[in-house]
Amino acid sequence: MIEFASILRAAGLPVREVSGWRRRGRPPSTNPRDPAYPAATRFAGIGLHHTAGHDDLDVVVNGRPGLPGPLANLYVARDGKVYVVAAGRANHLGAGAVEVYRRTLRDLAPLGDAADVGLDDSTVGNGVYVGIEVENFGTPGDPYPRAQIDSLQRTCAALCEEMGWTANRCVQHREWTRRKVDMSYRGPLREAVASMLAKEDLILDAGTKAYFDKQFELLRVGDNPDPKTGDTHPYSFENVLHRLDRIEGLLKLMWKGDEPEPPQGETHPQNLETVWQQGQATNAALQAQELDLAAIKADVEAIRREVEALRAAAGSAGR
Ligand SMILES: [Zn+2]
Repeated sequence: MIEFASILRAAGLPVREVSGWRRRGRPPSTNPRDPAYPAATRFAGIGLHHTAGHDDLDVVVNGRPGLPGPLANLYVARDGKVYVVAAGRANHLGAGAVEVYRRTLRDLAPLGDAADVGLDDSTVGNGVYVGIEVENFGTPGDPYPRAQIDSLQRTCAALCEEMGWTANRCVQHREWTRRKVDMSYRGPLREAVASMLAKEDLILDAGTKAYFDKQFELLRVGDNPDPKTGDTHPYSFENVLHRLDRIEGLLKLMWKGDEPEPPQGETHPQNLETVWQQGQATNAALQAQELDLAAIKADVEAIRREVEALRAAAGSAGR
């Protein structure tokens, strides 16, 4: 059994335990072709859903007519709170593509939405994926609050970390079966979870990431001349190299000053080279003065001894 509550709490998530979650779950499948059979669960990944409603935790816990609960293992509310609904098997993914399940077992992400890829339902996912329902209508008019997506990503990361899974084991319902369109969230969820697992600082929201992706794309493809005009893109490697050459030239100018004027052969007086030379000359002068000072001290000492010797001689002569 996965200790959902303690794992998520240890990850710093706002956890709410739905009473009885440890004992809640559907009975094992009687179908030997169910990948969890004969157990009720043999979790290998995470299945992601939107609820198509608001304030519908009770539906996820208890089910609805024709579909008994629990409908998920976890419920992520709009405010980011994570409700632990069930430890056992939940009615969430239903029938889906065995190709996706095989990829999950190999830590490979699904290839895309099942409808686009052309996948048929050929196995059942309820026993082998942890179900997460995210409170959202699934319509364009119902954006996902930042706190909610943040909690979802951290929940997935905490579970993957605990189970030794990569982020690629997070599967959208629409990637599992062509029958479904959830979740409607299409941000870079697996990328975010992977960043968290790698302990990287995730500083990019989806919009910023898209912007940088575009810039890198321009850098990557910019070298190719436009087939019609023959122009290269200004962001091409070639142009970046030209800019680097220009910067290098400016640095040389700082170091050496202007090129010598042909008639006089003089370079510009103020550049790094002359400043350094001035510094060297000053050091040499200071060193010479130190030597002079030492010689003067030695002379003074010699004179002092001579004076003392003369005094002693004068004293003995006067006795
Ligand atoms: Zn779903």
